[in-house]
Amino acid sequence: MKKFKLTLIALALAAGTVSAQPPAPMNPKADGIPVTKLSRLRVFADEQDMDQQSKLQYSQLLNEAKQKEALVPESDPQVKRLRAIAARIVPNAQRWNPSAANWQWEVNLLNSDQVNAFCMPGGRIAFFTGILTKLNLTDDEVAMVMGHEIAHALREHARKRAVQSTAVSLASKLGGAVLSSYLGIDPRITDAGANVAGQLTVMKFSRGDETESDLVGIDLAARAGFDPRAGIALWQKMSAVNAQQPMEFLSTHPSGNSRIQDMQKQMPLVLPVYARQRGLDVNKLPPYQTSPLPKS
Ligand SMILES: [Zn+2]
Repeated sequence: MKKFKLTLIALALAAGTVSAQPPAPMNPKADGIPVTKLSRLRVFADEQDMDQQSKLQYSQLLNEAKQKEALVPESDPQVKRLRAIAARIVPNAQRWNPSAANWQWEVNLLNSDQVNAFCMPGGRIAFFTGILTKLNLTDDEVAMVMGHEIAHALREHARKRAVQSTAVSLASKLGGAVLSSYLGIDPRITDAGANVAGQLTVMKFSRGDETESDLVGIDLAARAGFDPRAGIALWQKMSAVNAQQPMEFLSTHPSGNSRIQDMQKQMPLVLPVYARQRGLDVNKLPPYQTSPLPKS
């Protein structure tokens, strides 16, 4: 028993070393949102179990969508668009979690009115057509949503949550059945009418995890050359749409306004990253241009 405990401590310590390079002003990798350590708690949920469960659940979801003719084909311009945006964001993922180098990233689009998107552990991403159409997202805004969802996976929030929520003893390993409940969908932007993904458990992330994902998401997107100011426009659109048709996320999550304020505060850190990608002086960036919400 003693030996096992030591192993766990060693694991926790090893996890603690997963952090950023020390800041160096001239190093482009050192600007943007500072990288913090991943939660040590997460090591008590088995990474491979999480990955297997996520893989299974993702393929079940895709199969079910296919049967309902709700899986948008690869040839569709919106699928190509999502994959092109992901291809720009993914190379920046390792900054936030070195193990992402080995992830098998997937991006799919499900035909559903839901205003939602998620990224399961291991880089399995899905968007619902509702979020693209109801919010009329620009590429920059899609990148903000994608960055946020990818951030939950990179920061292993589901893995940490699985440990916290079940109050398992530190030495026990979570079984697959328990784990599968923690791979679910980000409820941040879930509206009331669930259909395709109705059987998937909704993941409730903590407020702290949501804030971290907002900031990691804008950093990921800025490094990929997407305008971080789109994060603010995105949340303004969310609030406007929510006023007409309430979405559940506002009851369980920080309001759009506090998110916008948190993101505003971090703009001085991420705008230079974006400006560098665009080859522009940060003071000469043109104002961010969003697109209008569709007429309802
Ligand atoms: Zn979230």
